[in-house]
Amino acid sequence: MRDVAQRIVSIAEGMGASYADSRVVRRERELISVKNEEVEVAHSHEDMGVGVRIIAEGAWGFSSTNRLDEKSLQNCAWRAVQVAKSSAGVRKYPVELAPEPAHRDEWVRPVEVDPFEVDRAEKLKLLTDCSKEMLREGVRVARATLVFERDTQVFANNSGSLIRQVLTESGGSLYALAVDEGNTQVRTYPCTIWHDIQGKGWETIEERDLPGNAPRVASEAMQLLSARPCPEMTTDAIIAPNELALQIHESVGHPVEADRILGHEADFAGTSFIDPDMLGELQFGSEKVNLFADPTLPGSRISYRYDDEGVEARRVDLVRDGVLVGLTTSRESAHELGMDRSAGCMRANNFDHIPLVRMPNVSLEPGDISREDLIASTERGILLDQNRSWSIDDRRLNFQFGSEVGWLIEDGQITEMVRDPIYADITPEFWSKCDAIADRDDWRIVGYACGKGTPSQDGRVAHGCSHARFSGLKVGAKNS
Ligand SMILES: [Zn+2]
Repeated sequence: MRDVAQRIVSIAEGMGASYADSRVVRRERELISVKNEEVEVAHSHEDMGVGVRIIAEGAWGFSSTNRLDEKSLQNCAWRAVQVAKSSAGVRKYPVELAPEPAHRDEWVRPVEVDPFEVDRAEKLKLLTDCSKEMLREGVRVARATLVFERDTQVFANNSGSLIRQVLTESGGSLYALAVDEGNTQVRTYPCTIWHDIQGKGWETIEERDLPGNAPRVASEAMQLLSARPCPEMTTDAIIAPNELALQIHESVGHPVEADRILGHEADFAGTSFIDPDMLGELQFGSEKVNLFADPTLPGSRISYRYDDEGVEARRVDLVRDGVLVGLTTSRESAHELGMDRSAGCMRANNFDHIPLVRMPNVSLEPGDISREDLIASTERGILLDQNRSWSIDDRRLNFQFGSEVGWLIEDGQITEMVRDPIYADITPEFWSKCDAIADRDDWRIVGYACGKGTPSQDGRVAHGCSHARFSGLKVGAKNS
């Protein structure tokens, strides 16, 4: 892999590239799903290829191939150079990159038990047992899923970097769908759409105790059928990490992406209400709110030592004591913004995609109150758990989120389950309502996915947070 990575960089340089980098990626993937005690998907996949990204005549070019012989590498590099030369005629200004030293390194994300070494029969038994337990509660659909991925990748550039990283990740989830006349309710654990993928091995699945949670998940879906709709009210809302992680993703992660702010990227998730001169000025939230991006956090599916343009990972503060102080950047956008170094946020979906600015573990700092005390100190309010729907405008300001379940709180006690809760607000006003955040014991990383770019890239993301309370939030019920 190292030879291929270095060879294609040198070919591109010989063809006139002033800058060239390459990524050789081998991806292994396993996805298994059991629905109502029957195997729904049992899929194993492996692919490998190289992507080369170059600058020629001041413009970007990119190409990729899954054929790694000399002739294919020559053709691939030639295509990338031709793309750059074609683009050069319409560019507004030449691409320049913030400096980054050359790195020669190797890093393997720590894994206790290799998930690809666990027997397929054991995985199927686990999922079938979960599905059976959920069906026993009377749900219509009982699905259990496991997903594992490993990327072995080598990055090289013509500044002398040569970096090998091995990134393994594991996820697994439960989904229970309960139905009666005109009413459909879902409960999931830990979350279903993205299977809460973590940058760890099979130990993630064991820690999660899917069989132990299966009866509760299905029983809650059934209870939701007879719960009353969430009352319309302005109240103190405690948002659980499974919901808050997506809130962070949509209302913090996307608007601080430098490529959106600079107008380089507007697909899927739109642009941003933030502009660069708001740094150090914008009151983004209350003084309790501290947000950061940190790809060095252990255990996340976004734990890496170098990003996909060879920038060494580091923590960057985004919001400090409620004030906007940082952005997620690439080498190009950092230079354009006058910053001396990239925040190390560039990642591509696979070898055949060009890297984009991606949010690396954009997370909310924990507070200093236990989760129990957070609830106990809430006189009247609601606990919102697990995202079910989301909608936010292109500039990432006005949003409405729906949760799977709401739990009403009276005098510091959870009193009643309510169904179909939704809440709505405007980004800085929402974060300004944050008056308490649970402590580190409650803090956890939730692994998500995110669509961005054209051609679309289904990228990995993760967000760390604990339960947080927002005072005076407007909540109601879907369709009410
Ligand atoms: Zn997204």
